Amino acid sequence: MGAERAVYFFGNGVAEGTGSMREVLGGKGAGLAEMTSLGLPVPPGFTITTAECVRFYKEGRTLREDLKRDAMTAMKRVEAIVGRRFGDPENPLLVSVRSGARASMPGMMDTILNLGLNDVTVRGLIRETSNPRFAWDSYRRFIQMFGDVVLGVDHSEFEHLMDGVKKERGVRLDTQLTAEDLERLVKLYQAKVKERTGKEFPADPSEQLWASITAVFSSWYNDRAYSYRRMNRIPHDWGTAANIQAMVFGNLGEDSATGVAFTRDPSTGENQFYGEYLTNAQGEDVVAGIRTPHPLTVVQKDHGDDLPSLEEEMPVMFQELVAVRAKLEAHYKDMLDLEFTIERGRLWMLQTRSGKRTGVAALKIATDLVRSKMLDERQALLRVDPDVHLDQLLHPMIDPRAKLEPLAKGLNASPGAASGGAVFTAEAAVLAKAAGKTVVLVRTETSPEDIEGMAAAQAILTARGGRTSHAAVVARGMGKVCVAGCGALHVDVAARKATFETKKGPVVVNEGDPITIDGTNGFVYFGVVPTVDPELTGDYDVFMAWADKHRTLRVRTNADTPHDAAVARKFGAEGIGLCRTEHMFFGEERLPWVRKMILATNETERRAALERLKPMQREDFVGIFTAMDGLPVTIRLLDPPLHEFVPHTEHEAAELAREIGMDAADVWKRCQSLAEMNPMLGHRGCRLGITYPEIYEMQAIAIFEAAAEVKRNGKHPVPEIMLPLIGTTEEYRRLKDLVHQAAERVLGANQKTISYLVGTMIEVPRACIVADRIAEEAEFFSFGTNDLTQLTFGYSRDDAGTFLPQYVELGVLPRDPFLSLDVAGVGELIRMGTERGRSTKKDLKVGICGEHGGDPTSVGFCHTVGMNYVSCSPYRVPVARLAAAQAAVRAS
Ligand code: PEP
Ligand code: MG
Repeated sequence: MGAERAVYFFGNGVAEGTGSMREVLGGKGAGLAEMTSLGLPVPPGFTITTAECVRFYKEGRTLREDLKRDAMTAMKRVEAIVGRRFGDPENPLLVSVRSGARASMPGMMDTILNLGLNDVTVRGLIRETSNPRFAWDSYRRFIQMFGDVVLGVDHSEFEHLMDGVKKERGVRLDTQLTAEDLERLVKLYQAKVKERTGKEFPADPSEQLWASITAVFSSWYNDRAYSYRRMNRIPHDWGTAANIQAMVFGNLGEDSATGVAFTRDPSTGENQFYGEYLTNAQGEDVVAGIRTPHPLTVVQKDHGDDLPSLEEEMPVMFQELVAVRAKLEAHYKDMLDLEFTIERGRLWMLQTRSGKRTGVAALKIATDLVRSKMLDERQALLRVDPDVHLDQLLHPMIDPRAKLEPLAKGLNASPGAASGGAVFTAEAAVLAKAAGKTVVLVRTETSPEDIEGMAAAQAILTARGGRTSHAAVVARGMGKVCVAGCGALHVDVAARKATFETKKGPVVVNEGDPITIDGTNGFVYFGVVPTVDPELTGDYDVFMAWADKHRTLRVRTNADTPHDAAVARKFGAEGIGLCRTEHMFFGEERLPWVRKMILATNETERRAALERLKPMQREDFVGIFTAMDGLPVTIRLLDPPLHEFVPHTEHEAAELAREIGMDAADVWKRCQSLAEMNPMLGHRGCRLGITYPEIYEMQAIAIFEAAAEVKRNGKHPVPEIMLPLIGTTEEYRRLKDLVHQAAERVLGANQKTISYLVGTMIEVPRACIVADRIAEEAEFFSFGTNDLTQLTFGYSRDDAGTFLPQYVELGVLPRDPFLSLDVAGVGELIRMGTERGRSTKKDLKVGICGEHGGDPTSVGFCHTVGMNYVSCSPYRVPVARLAAAQAAVRAS
């Protein structure tokens, strides 16, 4: 391949780039090229590619000479169109230099306007515009922007000088300064630059240009842009483009203006033009908020705006803009965000891109575009972001109009926003709920014992743990808001208070003090913050029906209670992919029997305790089978290490001993003996079933008895019994036999009336390798990608919070692999496991039930490896349905 083109010209109806070249030209550059080709009024200019920015960093932050030459060639073409020359003393061409990355990064990088001005060209501008005030104002703005962005003289130093002049002149507003005042300010600004940098402000326009391009490229790595990319998962190696464009001025008088618009209402999605503008202003005045922008349309005024609209003030310009809106929407088939300037009665377009919108708006726009035949269903499915738009729809969120200062930030573990009084123990949460209060449970970390407190709370906040920590997984399952791993939080349970380390010093939250948790972005606020409720409108139903029509992956849910199962079914779940039976063991009346069963010293004692638990388990399953009538329910037999269920202090052990009538010393000894160095690699999963078969036997019997009962009640239970953590065929074979024997015992001759499957989780790397052999026996596979990720990377699920966030921040890993499937490693094991399993059993049913089952990118991967279903927490079900449909559309 020859040398890549580094500069793309646009102007006068001709563009060398196109709208589809976002990767090369950035979003802004691609939009400018496309608008130019469409014949819209775009000031001419040129785009320097993102590849040049990447090269700039490789070559020690310098601009190549060839690049400068190509840029100057393009500049000549701009000069020819505009009829002015760059640096010409009589008739100077002024340009803007703006960044523009592939993905929108609003306000994160730098911009320079009015470039090309100096002490000579400013005179030319005065002559040409007959407006000295405008010319001096443009010049002082340029020195200020260039001084700040390129020369590193802080913005506030210029502001300070400006304030001084205003004070001297006894005026309050910038607009009250005269041309003479502004000319003086220019001198003061130049002197300030000299004082700070030791050099004169550069007068040579070319020098200004190269320095500005350098600054724009450099701003790719400023702190703001870097953090923004990290938060929005934008790769650091993309680089930004730089757009150099002839200036047009919205501040040339009352027949000039500048504004921004959306082709439809971005908060409701209504097909209404929507925007704001200011007369006699430059772009940054609209954003700076010094003057209140006016509404674009008369309709907007009906919604509470009382300032005159563009539609009334400049009707001709407004109609032109309306025509641009129609042309761009018809072309892009999307809602767009526009930037425009009116210079002395002439409209210029400066930007177009896909407009950011709320979840409600995204659905309305997508369905409206199909109704008006601009898009077909399949294209429309790709216009709604499952993670951003759908997720937002399913949870209350912080009122976007509220202006707030967060107290702290943690990991956004389960989305939505909720407020309540802080409580620091599960018991306090339960008591408060019983007393009719709403609470937020604040813990250092949660354990299964906190489950009732979590259920009683509106939201859960923890100081430790990641997104697959107990708190996170359980909260998502319950649809509760959760922020986990909030490092600034210290909980003092005894003193019933929590302290947040903030920049302004420690903030103490006492029991009962109101706090608000935003699990969508991880923020914690003091006090009750206003939230708005989600609305599942008619558009939602229509849109989701399209998703269901086009997807091939089935979507199940991870649910442990009839309530969760019913919620998930309402959200469209087609079965349960994982019912974690251990969560059923923590109920108040059960825990003593669970503990008795664990502490038993012989099989007889253990069986006696299990007999007490069996009816309760059966009742659970009856509820779940009933809620999922006719749909498959995958029940996993007991999985966690037993020590999770027993006391961890001698004091608690003594209390338990009293409760269950055992010797305190014996109980404590047994509890200690259950402790393990690496419990996640220890006595758990199917290893429990092998060593204490009576536990699995009780569970299997409870399942079949429940199925038989539900069947008698006229419903259709479809049990699928799942064995966890299988690594060898022998483990599987023994436990499968045990389940079949239980079925035989319970169902006897009626076995045929209830069809059930026995299968395995695949969550140990070895299981992926010997999957062909396991499939000889197993009737289905379900990838447990939480454990599979843990065991493939060797990262503890419980302790990865100590280094994983840094790994992601430093770019060692692109994303947290517990959140989004590591396709190269864990994904390869899944592919191998699936292929090997199906090499033995062609139609082997394969699914996934780790947290990844609700992550859109991971769902896409599951589609490509040919899984039958994904399973995720109830509130993620619609997200997974859409992600599955998008994967199918993209693959076809
Ligand atoms: C898994 O490991 O992916 C899984 C679903 O099981 P758990 O999270 O309960 O270990
Ligand atoms: Mg697991």
